Amino acid sequence: MDLTFSAEERAFERDVREFIAAHLPAETKRAQSLTPSVFSDPEVIVAWQKALNAKGWVAPGWPTQYGGPGWTPAQRWIFETQCALAGVPSISPMGTKMVGPVIIGFGTDAQKNYYLPRILAGDDVWCQGYSEPGSGSDLSSLKTRAVRDGDHYVVNGTKIWTTHAHHANRMFALVRTSEEPRQQEGISFILIDMKSPGVTIRPILTIGGDHEVNQVFFDDVRVPVSDRVGEEGKGWTYGKYLLEFERGGGIASARLREALKTVAAFADSDMTGHAIDDPDVSLRLSEVEVDIDALEMAELRVLSAMQTGQNPGAVSSMLKLRVSEIHQAITRLGVDVIGNDGLVVEPMRPLYTLNHEPVIPEALLPVVPKHLNGRAYTIFGGASEIQRDIIGKLVLGI
Ligand SMILES: Cc1cc2nc3c(=O)[nH]c(=O)nc-3n(C[C@H](O)[C@H](O)[C@H](O)COP(=O)(O)OP(=O)(O)OC[C@H]3O[C@@H](n4cnc5c(N)ncnc54)[C@H](O)[C@@H]3O)c2cc1C
Repeated sequence: MDLTFSAEERAFERDVREFIAAHLPAETKRAQSLTPSVFSDPEVIVAWQKALNAKGWVAPGWPTQYGGPGWTPAQRWIFETQCALAGVPSISPMGTKMVGPVIIGFGTDAQKNYYLPRILAGDDVWCQGYSEPGSGSDLSSLKTRAVRDGDHYVVNGTKIWTTHAHHANRMFALVRTSEEPRQQEGISFILIDMKSPGVTIRPILTIGGDHEVNQVFFDDVRVPVSDRVGEEGKGWTYGKYLLEFERGGGIASARLREALKTVAAFADSDMTGHAIDDPDVSLRLSEVEVDIDALEMAELRVLSAMQTGQNPGAVSSMLKLRVSEIHQAITRLGVDVIGNDGLVVEPMRPLYTLNHEPVIPEALLPVVPKHLNGRAYTIFGGASEIQRDIIGKLVLGI
């Protein structure tokens, strides 16, 4: 693969840099730097998403006929890298990277015409209704029922760990529409209006004290049959297709590199008493950097394959695994580097004094929350053991 950029690509890089400088509000950038979470709350990203949409840059992976920018892999890489360098917040992946590709691949024209422009504009906030109590890794055992009643399904059951359900007005969900001997069959993929009567959302607070995930209950919730994507009973196929995009098909290496640089800068500063002088710290910084280099190459390979119309495939499990583990290695290093300063950060304890002064230098405030939040990376989107299983079977053929 030729990694030398052409003059056109360098010009594109300048365009992206100028666009970010002109459209990213300073307050958004600060909010993003302080958030411990995978992606920011919708109100933080709304202005940025609108600016991206006006430029046609919201969904780099989409075909141009649906509003994608038609970028080459190199342009996508340049865009993501510039966004990472500038500290741009990530757009929620639930619309553009998850339900969007499924609607493009399997939706009706009416669904495409209605939902796709709304995803690009950020008019809908989506959440993912896959996991249930008792059905996580063993997802195909899911029990939420959707029973046909004329032009509607009547949905009963519960979904759990639903990220941002409390912000969402739409959920894409896997539900059981019939009982079949093979549990992967009889599952359908439906789009649920979260404002429908019978939907109840209960918050779940995570280890860092964040309200990010929820349990969602459905009591006789009516969903129009026209909001089923694809064929009835074939939802497992669409759900798995979506997981390939959730796990791979993005570029995480640029953001991981910036996160590592931030930790390295802390380690090389008075704030941490120059923790970098500890050989253990400097060695771990180097090891993670090498891991990021290797990840970047793998991501570029997948991007190239996607450019020729292929979907990410099982290799997305390898990317998901490495991204999760590298993220955790960086946040763990961060905690070790800031040392005792980390002890003042506890869930629910104010991080600012009554005079609005941060209790430790503001730049260090997110270090412990990011570490705590990051514990979930090796669980959500499919736990690491499951990814290893997929890699063993489908990539290595063992
Ligand atoms: C912060 C967070 C956000 C999430 N957001 C969402 C969301 O928005 N939407 C959604 O649908 N879900 C979401 N999830 C749920 C997530 O996908 C599941 O938690 C995950 O798939 C694991 O399922 P489980 O929790 O039921 O654990 P289990 O499946 O019970 O697994 C428990 C442990 O056993 C291991 N294990 C299970 N089966 C095997 C096996 N066959 N071989 C080897 N080891 C195995 C697992 O790896 C894990 O370590 C989220 C989870 C978290 C933590």
